[in-house]
Amino acid sequence: MVYCKTDEEVELIRESSLLVAKTLAEVAKAIRPGIQTVDIDRLAEEYIKDHGALPAFKGYRGFPYTLCISLNAEVVHGMPSDRELKEGDILSVDCGVLKNHFYGDSAYTFPVGLIDESKARLLHVTRECLMMGIAKAIEGYRIGDISSAIQEHAEKNGYGVVRELVGHGIGKNLHESPEVPNYGKKGTGMKLKEGMVIAIEPMINMGRREVREEKDGWTITTKDGLPSAHYEHTVAIRKDKTDVLTTFNYIEEALNK
Ligand code: MG
Ligand code: MG
Repeated sequence: MVYCKTDEEVELIRESSLLVAKTLAEVAKAIRPGIQTVDIDRLAEEYIKDHGALPAFKGYRGFPYTLCISLNAEVVHGMPSDRELKEGDILSVDCGVLKNHFYGDSAYTFPVGLIDESKARLLHVTRECLMMGIAKAIEGYRIGDISSAIQEHAEKNGYGVVRELVGHGIGKNLHESPEVPNYGKKGTGMKLKEGMVIAIEPMINMGRREVREEKDGWTITTKDGLPSAHYEHTVAIRKDKTDVLTTFNYIEEALNK
C-alpha cells in the first residue's frame, strides 16, 4: 500500500529532510585526510540529537551507527570504523533522521582532497543520474520512468547500475512502498500521484554492476573492486513539479569554503 501524505505531513518530512541536509554539511566540514570514519559518525549523531531528532539508522535492523559510510569500492551500508581517510578517496555518506514521527533520508559522495579524473567523472555522472530521475518524479509519470532515466544515463557513460538495492517510499517509516529501482523500463510500474514521498538514490559503479556483501553482514562492495558512488534525495510528488525535500546546498556551501 502506498500512502499519500497530506501537505502538513510533507512539511514534517521536509523538516526532517533539512536536518539530514544540515547534518551532511557538518560531515562535509569534517572530511579530510587522517580523520577516522567513526569520528565523523560521532559528530553526526551529536548534531542530530542536539536538534531534537534521532538518528534513523542507529538500531535499524541492528545497525550500530548513525551513518552508513562507504569508502571507494564500498557501495552502501559501510560501517564507521577506525579507518582513516586518505587523499584521493571517495566517501559515500548516507544519513537518515526521525523527527516528529517522520523520516528524512539523503546521501552524498564526497571527494577526500584531490581525486583523480575518473572518480570525479563518476561522482558527476551519478549526480546527473539522480537529477534525471528527479525530473520524472511528477504526477502522471510512472516509477519506471524514473528508473529508466537513471539507468540510461549511467549505462550511456559506461557505468554499472546496482540492482540489488533500490530507492523507496518514506514517511512514518524509513522504508515504505513503492520500491524505486535504478533500472527499468519507461512507462511501466506504479503511476505517481500527488502526495507520494519517495527517496531516489542511484548507486552507480565505475565498472560492472555486480556487488557482494562483506562478512560484517552490512557492507555492500563492488565485485570488481572498482569505486562506486551514491547520491540520494527525499522528494514529494506534485502535479506539475517535483518538490525536493532534502538539499545539497548546505553541503556545497561547506565544501566551497
Ligand atoms: Mg539513505
Ligand atoms: Mg534511502
